[in-house]
Amino acid sequence: MTTTLTTFPTEAADRLRRGGLVGFPTETVYGLGADAFQPEAVKRIFEAKGRPADNPLIVHVRRREQIGQVAATIPAAAEPLLERFLPGPLTIILPRHPELPSVITAGLDTVGVRMPGLPLTQRFLAACDTPVPAPSANRSGRPSPTTWEAVQDDLGGRIDCILQGGQTEAGVESTVVDCTTEPVEVLRPGAVSVEALRDVLGAVRTESSTEASALRSPGTRHRHYAPAAEVRLVEDPSETEPGPKHAYIGLDAPAPPDAFGAVFVEPDLEAYAHDLFHVFRTCDEKGFEIIYAQTVPPTGLGRALNDRLRRAAAR
Ligand code: AMP
Ligand code: MG
Repeated sequence: MTTTLTTFPTEAADRLRRGGLVGFPTETVYGLGADAFQPEAVKRIFEAKGRPADNPLIVHVRRREQIGQVAATIPAAAEPLLERFLPGPLTIILPRHPELPSVITAGLDTVGVRMPGLPLTQRFLAACDTPVPAPSANRSGRPSPTTWEAVQDDLGGRIDCILQGGQTEAGVESTVVDCTTEPVEVLRPGAVSVEALRDVLGAVRTESSTEASALRSPGTRHRHYAPAAEVRLVEDPSETEPGPKHAYIGLDAPAPPDAFGAVFVEPDLEAYAHDLFHVFRTCDEKGFEIIYAQTVPPTGLGRALNDRLRRAAAR
């Protein structure tokens, strides 16, 4: 299959409406979408990625009214979140609409809904004029793609089209919040901080590592975000060992920096998150063997960063 590259959201949407798979940018990472109401096309998303069938897809919508096509009801706790964070990098878990194809939700009775904020994504979704289930547009297990080139590297020849946008802003995925429980629970930390959710809702549970929530969010069980190089976590750069095939990423600089193959010193958490997956992929292209990654304070965006770092380091 030839993968068409386009900068026109209408052309990409046309491919999707004709049953195609389309890689597209959002403010978090690139997604791989299909028409929610063409189950055969949705099945091909799992095949193209090598994604386990038990891992549900987040459905992307353009307008508030489209939520009614995918969710049966909107629980009271979800209202203030919709009001405050949509459009934006937040995924809200709601009761599933009975007519939504079950391949999307991996048989669960809930559905994850997200309304992206990036203008190019909004133009694409408006032209699709249908809800678009889309996981990240990488081969399963690999770092999420933050550029269209990364989508092409992973899925070129396996999908119909890539909508070419710039490098994504956030660099980490959306925060996933289960609004079917009381209080609501964060199933995956992400670009919207837990602190910001608490400002709006008060009580928010965060035991995302508990067995119960791992069951409710199957994706968090799988190995994720990993480059080919071995990722070693350090709290302090002094714990690293320099070498020409060793790379380093963190907030504090290692010494001596010249003794590493590459060093990425990030000015703040936002820059660290923005760069992380791109750095992983760049290190693989250069054939590095070890990537030292500094863990960060677990507040704000730091929670999501540490989560991605831990999963990338898990062998
Ligand atoms: P990605 O594969 O990068 O798109 O990430 C999607 C994440 O959202 C995975 O961790 C999924 O398990 C999770 N998710 C999607 N739908 C649901 C749902 N209905 N209930 C719980 N988690 C979900
Ligand atoms: Mg993913």
